[in-house]
Amino acid sequence: MADDRAERIAEFIRPLRVEPGRKVHLADDFDPGYKAGIRKKKEGVELLRTGVELLADYQRRLAAQDTYGVLVCLQALDAGGKDGTIRHVMSGVNPQGVQVSSFKVPSTEELDHDYLWRYACRLPGRGEIGIFNRSHYEEVLVVRVHPENLDRQRLPDSARGPDVWDRRYREINDWEHYLTDNGFRIVKLFLNLSKEEQRIRFLKRIDVPERNWKFSPADVRERARWDDYQRAFSQMLSATSTKWAPWYVVPADHKWFARVCAAAVLAHTLIEINPQYPRVSDETRRGLAEVRRELEREAPKGAALDPYAASVSKGESGNRKPRRRAP
Ligand code: ATP
Ligand code: MG
Repeated sequence: MADDRAERIAEFIRPLRVEPGRKVHLADDFDPGYKAGIRKKKEGVELLRTGVELLADYQRRLAAQDTYGVLVCLQALDAGGKDGTIRHVMSGVNPQGVQVSSFKVPSTEELDHDYLWRYACRLPGRGEIGIFNRSHYEEVLVVRVHPENLDRQRLPDSARGPDVWDRRYREINDWEHYLTDNGFRIVKLFLNLSKEEQRIRFLKRIDVPERNWKFSPADVRERARWDDYQRAFSQMLSATSTKWAPWYVVPADHKWFARVCAAAVLAHTLIEINPQYPRVSDETRRGLAEVRRELEREAPKGAALDPYAASVSKGESGNRKPRRRAP
Protein backbone atom coordinates (compact mmCIF):
# COMPACT_ATOMS: atom_id res chain seq x y z
CA MET A 1 0.00 0.00 0.00
CA ALA A 2 2.76 2.46 1.04
CA ASP A 3 4.84 1.26 -1.95
CA ASP A 4 1.86 1.78 -4.17
CA ARG A 5 1.52 5.37 -2.99
CA ALA A 6 5.26 5.99 -3.48
CA GLU A 7 4.99 4.60 -7.01
CA ARG A 8 1.99 6.83 -7.82
CA ILE A 9 3.83 9.92 -6.59
CA ALA A 10 6.94 9.01 -8.61
CA GLU A 11 4.75 8.54 -11.69
CA PHE A 12 2.99 11.88 -11.12
CA ILE A 13 6.20 13.92 -10.92
CA ARG A 14 8.07 12.14 -13.74
CA PRO A 15 6.92 14.55 -16.51
CA LEU A 16 8.17 17.51 -14.44
CA ARG A 17 11.65 16.16 -13.96
CA VAL A 18 14.57 17.45 -16.03
CA GLU A 19 16.59 14.36 -16.86
CA PRO A 20 20.28 15.02 -16.17
CA GLY A 21 22.11 15.93 -19.36
CA ARG A 22 18.93 16.92 -21.21
CA LYS A 23 19.11 20.18 -23.12
CA VAL A 24 16.09 22.22 -22.08
CA HIS A 25 14.28 24.78 -24.16
CA LEU A 26 11.60 25.96 -21.77
CA ALA A 27 9.07 27.27 -24.26
CA ASP A 28 9.03 23.98 -26.21
CA ASP A 29 9.55 21.47 -23.43
CA PHE A 30 7.32 22.49 -20.53
CA ASP A 31 3.74 23.77 -20.63
CA PRO A 32 2.96 26.20 -17.76
CA GLY A 33 -0.75 25.26 -18.07
CA TYR A 34 -0.26 21.47 -17.70
CA LYS A 35 -2.64 19.86 -15.17
CA ALA A 36 -1.89 16.13 -15.55
CA GLY A 37 -5.46 15.54 -16.67
CA ILE A 38 -6.96 16.72 -13.38
CA ARG A 39 -10.02 18.60 -14.49
CA LYS A 40 -11.40 20.04 -11.28
CA LYS A 41 -9.57 22.28 -8.84
CA LYS A 42 -11.55 20.52 -6.09
CA GLU A 43 -9.78 17.25 -6.90
CA GLY A 44 -6.43 19.05 -6.72
CA VAL A 45 -7.27 20.59 -3.36
CA GLU A 46 -8.15 17.13 -2.02
CA LEU A 47 -4.84 15.74 -3.32
CA LEU A 48 -2.95 18.57 -1.66
CA ARG A 49 -4.67 17.84 1.65
CA THR A 50 -3.49 14.23 1.47
CA GLY A 51 0.00 15.40 0.51
CA VAL A 52 0.18 17.85 3.41
CA GLU A 53 -0.74 15.07 5.87
CA LEU A 54 1.91 12.83 4.39
CA LEU A 55 4.53 15.57 4.67
CA ALA A 56 3.63 16.20 8.31
CA ASP A 57 4.17 12.52 9.13
CA TYR A 58 7.50 12.35 7.29
CA GLN A 59 8.73 15.59 8.80
CA ARG A 60 8.14 14.22 12.32
CA ARG A 61 10.21 11.18 11.41
CA LEU A 62 12.92 13.28 9.75
CA ALA A 63 13.23 15.40 12.93
CA ALA A 64 13.20 12.36 15.23
CA GLN A 65 15.86 10.53 13.24
CA ASP A 66 18.02 13.66 13.12
CA THR A 67 20.32 12.27 10.42
CA TYR A 68 19.20 13.83 7.15
CA GLY A 69 18.30 17.42 6.27
CA VAL A 70 16.30 18.61 3.27
CA LEU A 71 16.84 21.82 1.35
CA VAL A 72 14.05 23.04 -0.92
CA CYS A 73 15.11 25.63 -3.51
CA LEU A 74 12.26 27.63 -5.01
CA GLN A 75 12.86 29.65 -8.13
CA ALA A 76 10.30 31.57 -10.17
CA LEU A 77 9.73 34.76 -12.07
CA ASP A 78 7.83 37.51 -10.25
CA ALA A 79 4.25 36.51 -9.39
CA GLY A 80 5.19 32.87 -9.96
CA GLY A 81 3.59 31.90 -6.64
CA LYS A 82 6.56 31.09 -4.39
CA ASP A 83 5.01 32.54 -1.23
CA GLY A 84 1.66 30.78 -1.67
CA THR A 85 3.40 27.49 -2.44
CA ILE A 86 5.43 27.67 0.77
CA ARG A 87 2.34 28.64 2.79
CA HIS A 88 0.15 25.83 1.48
CA VAL A 89 2.64 23.01 1.13
CA MET A 90 4.13 23.52 4.57
CA SER A 91 0.78 24.21 6.27
CA GLY A 92 0.74 20.89 8.13
CA VAL A 93 4.33 20.65 9.33
CA ASN A 94 5.72 21.61 12.72
CA PRO A 95 7.13 25.16 12.34
CA GLN A 96 10.02 24.21 14.64
CA GLY A 97 11.38 21.87 11.99
CA VAL A 98 11.21 24.29 9.06
CA GLN A 99 13.17 27.40 8.29
CA VAL A 100 12.41 29.72 5.37
CA SER A 101 15.16 31.99 4.05
CA SER A 102 14.38 34.64 1.44
CA PHE A 103 17.24 35.95 -0.66
CA LYS A 104 17.14 39.51 -1.96
CA VAL A 105 19.72 41.83 -3.46
CA PRO A 106 22.92 40.98 -1.53
CA SER A 107 24.03 43.23 1.34
CA THR A 108 27.49 44.81 1.61
CA GLU A 109 28.53 42.10 4.04
CA GLU A 110 27.29 39.37 1.70
CA LEU A 111 29.16 40.94 -1.23
CA ASP A 112 32.31 40.79 0.86
CA HIS A 113 32.29 36.99 0.65
CA ASP A 114 32.33 34.36 -2.08
CA TYR A 115 28.97 34.12 -3.85
CA LEU A 116 27.83 30.90 -2.16
CA TRP A 117 28.60 32.13 1.36
CA ARG A 118 25.23 33.64 2.24
CA TYR A 119 23.42 30.48 1.10
CA ALA A 120 25.77 28.21 3.07
CA CYS A 121 24.97 30.28 6.19
CA ARG A 122 21.28 29.40 5.87
CA LEU A 123 21.47 25.68 5.18
CA PRO A 124 19.17 23.46 7.25
CA GLY A 125 20.58 21.30 10.01
CA ARG A 126 20.03 17.55 10.32
CA GLY A 127 16.39 16.75 10.97
CA GLU A 128 15.28 20.05 9.44
CA ILE A 129 13.67 21.22 6.23
CA GLY A 130 15.13 24.47 4.93
CA ILE A 131 13.33 26.42 2.25
CA PHE A 132 15.19 28.87 0.05
CA ASN A 133 12.76 31.45 -1.33
CA ARG A 134 15.03 32.31 -4.26
CA SER A 135 18.36 30.60 -3.86
CA HIS A 136 21.95 30.29 -5.00
CA TYR A 137 20.49 29.95 -8.51
CA GLU A 138 19.97 33.73 -8.57
CA GLU A 139 23.75 33.77 -9.08
CA VAL A 140 23.28 32.37 -12.61
CA LEU A 141 19.91 34.06 -13.28
CA VAL A 142 19.50 37.69 -12.23
CA VAL A 143 23.28 38.09 -12.03
CA ARG A 144 23.56 36.79 -15.59
CA VAL A 145 20.69 38.84 -16.99
CA HIS A 146 22.03 41.98 -15.26
CA PRO A 147 25.85 41.69 -15.37
CA GLU A 148 26.24 44.83 -13.22
CA ASN A 149 25.44 42.48 -10.32
CA LEU A 150 28.62 40.60 -11.16
CA ASP A 151 30.61 43.87 -11.05
CA ARG A 152 29.37 44.43 -7.49
CA GLN A 153 30.80 41.06 -6.47
CA ARG A 154 34.35 42.43 -6.95
CA LEU A 155 35.75 39.22 -8.40
CA PRO A 156 39.39 39.08 -9.43
CA ASP A 157 39.90 39.35 -13.20
CA SER A 158 40.89 35.70 -13.36
CA ALA A 159 37.41 34.73 -12.12
CA ARG A 160 35.48 36.94 -14.55
CA GLY A 161 36.25 35.46 -17.93
CA PRO A 162 33.60 34.36 -20.46
CA ASP A 163 33.53 30.94 -18.80
CA VAL A 164 32.16 32.40 -15.56
CA TRP A 165 28.66 30.89 -16.01
CA ASP A 166 29.90 27.40 -16.91
CA ARG A 167 32.21 27.58 -13.93
CA ARG A 168 29.36 28.59 -11.64
CA TYR A 169 27.21 25.72 -12.90
CA ARG A 170 30.04 23.32 -12.10
CA GLU A 171 30.68 24.87 -8.69
CA ILE A 172 26.98 24.72 -7.80
CA ASN A 173 26.76 21.08 -8.94
CA ASP A 174 29.85 20.21 -6.88
CA TRP A 175 28.51 22.02 -3.81
CA GLU A 176 25.18 20.21 -4.07
CA HIS A 177 26.97 16.89 -4.58
CA TYR A 178 28.98 17.50 -1.43
CA LEU A 179 25.83 18.35 0.54
CA THR A 180 23.98 15.29 -0.75
CA ASP A 181 26.90 13.00 0.07
CA ASN A 182 26.80 14.34 3.61
CA GLY A 183 23.12 13.71 4.25
CA PHE A 184 21.44 16.85 2.89
CA ARG A 185 18.99 16.18 0.09
CA ILE A 186 18.16 19.00 -2.31
CA VAL A 187 14.75 19.56 -3.88
CA LYS A 188 14.83 22.05 -6.73
CA LEU A 189 11.56 23.52 -7.97
CA PHE A 190 11.18 26.00 -10.77
CA LEU A 191 7.67 27.46 -10.89
CA ASN A 192 7.12 27.89 -14.60
CA LEU A 193 4.67 30.73 -15.29
CA SER A 194 3.46 31.84 -18.73
CA LYS A 195 3.91 35.44 -19.81
CA GLU A 196 0.15 35.89 -20.14
CA GLU A 197 -0.55 34.53 -16.66
CA GLN A 198 2.09 36.88 -15.23
CA ARG A 199 0.34 39.81 -16.95
CA ILE A 200 -2.97 38.75 -15.41
CA ARG A 201 -1.46 38.41 -11.91
CA PHE A 202 0.28 41.80 -12.14
CA LEU A 203 -3.01 43.42 -13.18
CA LYS A 204 -4.75 41.81 -10.22
CA ARG A 205 -2.13 43.27 -7.89
CA ILE A 206 -2.92 46.70 -9.33
CA ASP A 207 -6.70 46.23 -9.33
CA VAL A 208 -7.10 44.91 -5.78
CA PRO A 209 -6.07 47.59 -3.22
CA GLU A 210 -5.07 44.96 -0.64
CA ARG A 211 -2.60 43.57 -3.15
CA ASN A 212 -1.07 46.88 -4.26
CA TRP A 213 1.83 46.46 -1.80
CA LYS A 214 2.87 43.30 -3.63
CA PHE A 215 3.43 45.16 -6.86
CA SER A 216 6.76 46.77 -7.60
CA PRO A 217 7.62 48.78 -10.73
CA ALA A 218 10.84 46.72 -10.82
CA ASP A 219 8.67 43.68 -11.62
CA VAL A 220 7.59 45.30 -14.92
CA ARG A 221 11.20 46.14 -15.76
CA GLU A 222 12.13 42.50 -15.24
CA ARG A 223 9.15 41.42 -17.36
CA ALA A 224 10.64 43.42 -20.23
CA ARG A 225 13.59 41.03 -20.06
CA TRP A 226 11.31 37.98 -20.32
CA ASP A 227 13.21 36.33 -23.18
CA ASP A 228 16.57 36.83 -21.47
CA TYR A 229 15.23 35.18 -18.33
CA GLN A 230 13.74 32.29 -20.31
CA ARG A 231 17.15 31.72 -21.89
CA ALA A 232 18.94 31.93 -18.54
CA PHE A 233 16.44 29.50 -16.97
CA SER A 234 16.75 27.07 -19.89
CA GLN A 235 20.55 27.05 -19.68
CA MET A 236 20.51 26.71 -15.90
CA LEU A 237 18.07 23.76 -16.06
CA SER A 238 20.20 22.08 -18.75
CA ALA A 239 23.45 22.48 -16.82
CA THR A 240 22.43 21.90 -13.21
CA SER A 241 19.90 19.08 -13.24
CA THR A 242 21.98 16.27 -11.82
CA LYS A 243 21.46 12.71 -10.64
CA TRP A 244 21.93 13.83 -7.04
CA ALA A 245 19.86 17.03 -7.31
CA PRO A 246 17.51 17.07 -10.31
CA TRP A 247 15.35 20.02 -11.26
CA TYR A 248 11.57 19.81 -11.42
CA VAL A 249 9.75 22.27 -13.68
CA VAL A 250 6.42 22.91 -11.96
CA PRO A 251 3.60 24.17 -14.19
CA ALA A 252 2.56 27.35 -12.38
CA ASP A 253 -0.36 28.86 -14.31
CA HIS A 254 -2.79 27.05 -12.00
CA LYS A 255 -1.75 27.81 -8.44
CA TRP A 256 -3.53 24.79 -6.97
CA PHE A 257 -1.74 22.47 -9.38
CA ALA A 258 1.68 24.02 -8.67
CA ARG A 259 1.09 23.37 -4.96
CA VAL A 260 0.14 19.74 -5.53
CA CYS A 261 3.31 19.29 -7.61
CA ALA A 262 5.56 20.94 -5.02
CA ALA A 263 4.09 18.76 -2.26
CA ALA A 264 4.52 15.65 -4.43
CA VAL A 265 8.19 16.32 -5.23
CA LEU A 266 8.99 17.00 -1.58
CA ALA A 267 7.05 13.90 -0.51
CA HIS A 268 8.97 11.84 -3.09
CA THR A 269 12.27 12.95 -1.58
CA LEU A 270 11.15 12.22 1.97
CA ILE A 271 9.85 8.81 0.95
CA GLU A 272 13.26 8.07 -0.59
CA ILE A 273 15.00 9.10 2.64
CA ASN A 274 12.45 7.01 4.55
CA PRO A 275 13.38 8.40 7.99
CA GLN A 276 12.63 6.15 10.96
CA TYR A 277 11.86 6.88 14.59
CA PRO A 278 14.91 5.88 16.64
CA ARG A 279 14.52 2.61 18.56
CA VAL A 280 15.80 2.52 22.12
CA SER A 281 18.01 -0.26 23.45
CA ASP A 282 16.70 -3.17 25.56
CA GLU A 283 18.44 -1.69 28.56
CA THR A 284 16.67 1.68 28.10
CA ARG A 285 13.36 -0.16 27.69
CA ARG A 286 13.92 -2.00 30.98
CA GLY A 287 14.59 1.38 32.61
CA LEU A 288 11.36 2.76 31.12
CA ALA A 289 9.40 -0.22 32.50
CA GLU A 290 10.77 0.53 35.97
CA VAL A 291 9.73 4.22 35.70
CA ARG A 292 6.29 3.14 34.55
CA ARG A 293 5.84 0.96 37.66
CA GLU A 294 6.79 3.93 39.84
CA LEU A 295 4.34 6.25 38.04
CA GLU A 296 1.58 3.64 38.33
CA ARG A 297 2.19 3.46 42.08
CA GLU A 298 1.50 7.22 42.23
CA ALA A 299 -2.02 6.86 40.72
CA PRO A 300 -4.69 8.41 42.98
CA LYS A 301 -7.16 5.99 44.59
CA GLY A 302 -9.69 4.65 42.09
CA ALA A 303 -7.83 6.14 39.08
CA ALA A 304 -6.60 4.09 36.13
CA LEU A 305 -2.97 3.14 36.72
CA ASP A 306 -2.05 4.08 33.15
CA PRO A 307 -4.89 5.94 31.36
CA TYR A 308 -3.14 5.87 27.99
CA ALA A 309 -2.45 2.13 28.03
CA ALA A 310 -6.05 1.62 29.20
CA SER A 311 -7.45 3.60 26.27
CA VAL A 312 -5.28 1.69 23.80
CA SER A 313 -6.22 -1.75 25.13
CA LYS A 314 -9.87 -0.70 25.23
CA GLY A 315 -9.63 0.31 21.59
CA GLU A 316 -8.13 -3.07 20.76
CA SER A 317 -10.39 -5.31 22.79
CA GLY A 318 -13.56 -3.22 22.76
CA ASN A 319 -14.40 -3.47 26.46
CA ARG A 320 -11.36 -4.54 28.47
CA LYS A 321 -11.45 -2.98 31.97
CA PRO A 322 -8.54 -0.62 32.80
CA ARG A 323 -6.36 -1.59 35.76
CA ARG A 324 -7.24 0.76 38.63
CA ARG A 325 -5.71 1.64 41.97
CA ALA A 326 -7.85 0.11 44.73
CA PRO A 327 -10.12 2.82 46.29
P1 ATP B 1 7.95 39.00 -3.57
O1 ATP B 1 7.05 37.87 -3.94
O2 ATP B 1 7.65 39.54 -2.22
O3 ATP B 1 8.06 40.04 -4.64
P2 ATP B 1 10.70 38.47 -4.17
O4 ATP B 1 11.47 37.21 -3.97
O5 ATP B 1 10.45 38.89 -5.59
O6 ATP B 1 9.36 38.29 -3.39
P3 ATP B 1 11.71 41.07 -3.77
O7 ATP B 1 12.16 41.79 -2.56
O8 ATP B 1 10.58 41.62 -4.58
O9 ATP B 1 11.42 39.58 -3.36
O10 ATP B 1 12.91 40.91 -4.79
C1 ATP B 1 14.12 40.41 -4.45
C2 ATP B 1 15.04 40.80 -5.59
O11 ATP B 1 16.35 40.42 -5.24
C3 ATP B 1 14.71 40.13 -6.88
O12 ATP B 1 14.52 41.06 -7.89
C4 ATP B 1 15.92 39.26 -7.15
O13 ATP B 1 16.20 39.16 -8.52
C5 ATP B 1 16.98 40.00 -6.41
N1 ATP B 1 18.12 39.16 -6.08
C6 ATP B 1 18.12 37.98 -5.44
N2 ATP B 1 19.35 37.47 -5.38
C7 ATP B 1 20.16 38.34 -5.99
C8 ATP B 1 21.56 38.37 -6.26
N3 ATP B 1 22.35 37.40 -5.87
N4 ATP B 1 22.04 39.44 -6.93
C9 ATP B 1 21.24 40.43 -7.32
N5 ATP B 1 19.92 40.47 -7.10
C10 ATP B 1 19.38 39.44 -6.45
MG1 MG C 1 9.36 40.68 -6.09
